[in-house]
This record gives sequence, structure tokens and C-alpha cells, in this order.
Amino acid sequence: MTNSINTTRSEAVFEAAQKLMPGGVSSPVRAFKSVNGNPIVFDRVKGPYAWDLDGNRFIDYVGSWGPAICGHSHPEVIASLQEALEKGTSFGAPCELENKLAEMVIEAVPSVEMVRFVNSGTEACMAVLRLMRAFTGRDKVIKFEGCYHGHADMFLVKAGSGVATLGLPDSPGVPRSTTSNTLTAPYNDLEAVKELFAENPDGISGVILEPVVGNAGFIPPEPGFLEGLRELTKENGALLVFDEVMTGFRISYGGAQDRFGVTPDLTTLGKVIGGGLPVGAYGGRKEIMSMVAPAGPMYQAGTLSGNPLAMTAGIKTLELLKQEGSYEKLEALSQRLINGICKAAKQAGIPITASCIGGMFGFYLCEGPVRNFEEAKQTNAELFGKLHRTMLNKGIYLAPSAYEAGFTSLAHSDDDIETTIKAFQESFNEIN
Ligand SMILES: *Cc1c(COP(=O)(O)O)cnc(C)c1O
Repeated sequence: MTNSINTTRSEAVFEAAQKLMPGGVSSPVRAFKSVNGNPIVFDRVKGPYAWDLDGNRFIDYVGSWGPAICGHSHPEVIASLQEALEKGTSFGAPCELENKLAEMVIEAVPSVEMVRFVNSGTEACMAVLRLMRAFTGRDKVIKFEGCYHGHADMFLVKAGSGVATLGLPDSPGVPRSTTSNTLTAPYNDLEAVKELFAENPDGISGVILEPVVGNAGFIPPEPGFLEGLRELTKENGALLVFDEVMTGFRISYGGAQDRFGVTPDLTTLGKVIGGGLPVGAYGGRKEIMSMVAPAGPMYQAGTLSGNPLAMTAGIKTLELLKQEGSYEKLEALSQRLINGICKAAKQAGIPITASCIGGMFGFYLCEGPVRNFEEAKQTNAELFGKLHRTMLNKGIYLAPSAYEAGFTSLAHSDDDIETTIKAFQESFNEIN
């Protein structure tokens, strides 16, 4: 058995935090509620590692929930930020760096001809929803069970990990009148989408989805699913929107749409494009984006949007990712890790199903297959809770929920992966 690590200072800070902030955190999943324990309070992060207040070092597979794809505090990102800092933290006026990041995003992401920068993924999804309705003149939207599109009212229906692990099917405070326009279908189920279109002729503005689900664990689209949605939306005069806040620049440089060769009408981005600073974006066809104020009538604004520090971190991160071999490396690391985890679980007699694409991976402690959120719930969440704590004690930091994807980074080494696999082998044996 592994001894427990010393978490005295983390415990003390979290204890104090609970009196100051709801649940002691600034975002719910950080609270470790679904893995029965208190969170680890971080002190600093570097490369593939995080250090807590008690001096424990962890190999990190959360990567600040996605942004740290080049590794935490990459020296080139830090250096360019230091340079930008000298010129000021926020302009509230146009800055040339916005053009640079916009050009990079437009060049990389097939659907994006024009882009608007915001400060978070939530903001991007909120704005894209308004744009979908503005462009089509229709109020309804189709989303999928287990997909998360930020915490705007209309999206808080069957919204995946954060909501699911807290056991909140919906959130109080969300008006029924708002969610009555939100239609849901099981992921990977084209027939269900067809039926919704048939039941709501000329009422549906569009379909929004995570082209690879990362907020209900990790669920890839089945062959034909994305293509089918592309056809169905076209036939029905509705828009197809890929929420690539997680998958953008993560599963390939051009996101899931590039990887799978299906081009949506609109795309939301976040996480990686901010390189660790708060950035979100939405973009798409010029014709649609021209509706956004001040070019058009759909209002959306932001005091800190496009600020020079966030743009700088984003630009540098994308430059690093653009280098030859980045995604091959990410995918090789993810694949090696997944193979090791599967082998370790099987040796311990624990059922597992796992997969990865690019710098994103996931596993469920069940036989599978897992094609949607309902099937994801077969995972042994209680066993995952034990696994999570055991792995922490061995210096491995996994997302604190059985329904989250994991992330590799360019900073993870083969040695880090081997160390992690060994920890999985020991942990599976200990918890079984
Ligand atoms: C994280 C995430 C969001 C929300 O982004 P925030 O920056 O946390 O507001 C939206 N959509 C998807 C797919 C995400 O993974």
C-alpha cells in the first residue's frame, strides 16, 4: 500500500476557503466532491508538473483543464508575456495582437472566416447561441446529453460532468421558459436528431455539439455522425455549430473539424487559444459573423476582450503547437498512456474501455462500448474515486471526476508516461 501524502497545508487553506467562497472554490469540479476528499491546493506549475503547498509534486493530466498543452509556464510563453506586460495589461482599444491571433485562428480552423474574441468558453457559447437565433430567426436549439457548453441558462440541460457529478440534472434559477427552447438528443444518435427536426419544422436554429465529447468522459463521434449532422442541418435550414472550446488546437491544429473533415457553420474556441490566460472566441462564415455588432445588429461586447496579455499567450502557444510533429507527439503520448492503463486494468481484472485522439484521452471503468452519456454512466464511479486518491498518493494528478477527459502535453516525457502507467498498475491492484 502507498502511504498517504502529507496534505496538511492544502487542508488548512481549503478549510479557510470554504468560509470565504461557496464550496471553497471558484469553479465546482475543483472541489473533488465526486472523488470523496479535499482538493489539493496548488502552489506552482511547470512543464508537466504541479506542486502543492505541502511540496508534493504531481505529474499533471488536467493541464488547467486544457490550456497547458505546451506544458505549464512554457518559457517562451512566459518570456513573451513579460515583454507584453511592459506595454500594459489592457487597452480597451484595438491592438495589433488581435489581428495576429485572428489570422492564426482563421488560417487553422476550416470553418472560421471571421472571429470575435471574448474571455471564456462560456461567453463564446452564449454569444454563438444568440448568433444562431439572430441569423435564422428561430429560437430552438438542439444539444446532446452529456455535452457542456458553459453555464449559460439555455445550455444547463443534461450538461455533463460538472453538473452530473454534483447530481444536479438542471440548475435552480434557470427559467423553464428558457430551457423550453433547448431540445436534447443522445450523442451519436442521428435518428433522434431527425425526429426533433421533424417535430419542430422551421423552429430549430441549429445543432451545437462537442465534436469529440470531453465533458462526459471521452466519447469520440461514431463514423458518419458528424457528416449526418452536417446534412441534416443543411436540409432543415439550420446551422451546425462545433463547440471546440476543448478540442480546438487539442486533437489537431485545425480542431476536430479538420481531423474529421466536416466543416460546421460556426465554431467556438477557448482553453488552448488563451495559452493559460482567459480567452474564448467564436467564428464562422463571413456572412453569419457579419451580423455581430458593430458590423451588424447582434449585440455582444467585452471590456477585457482581446486584451494584449491574453492575445500574447494565445499567439505564442499556437506558434509552439504549429511546429512540425507536435500533434504526432501528443497522440503518441496519449496512445502509450491509454495502452498502459488498459493493460494494467485488465491484469488486475478491472473492466475498462479507453480511447484517445491527439492530446486528449479518457477511460471508463466498465466493459463499454461508451457511445453516449447514458452508457458512460456504466462506469464504476465509486472505484474511480478510490483510484483517484491512490494515484494522488503516488504523485499523479487526474481530473477529479469519472466524467472528465484527460490531457497530455508537449512537456510530458516518455518517462512521465511510464511512471504514470506504473502508478496505475499498483493502484488498480490496491483498490481491487
Ligand atoms: C470548458 C468548456 C466550455 C466552457 O469554457 P469556460 O472557459 O470554462 O467558460 C464550453 N464548452 C466546452 C466544450 C468546454 O470544454
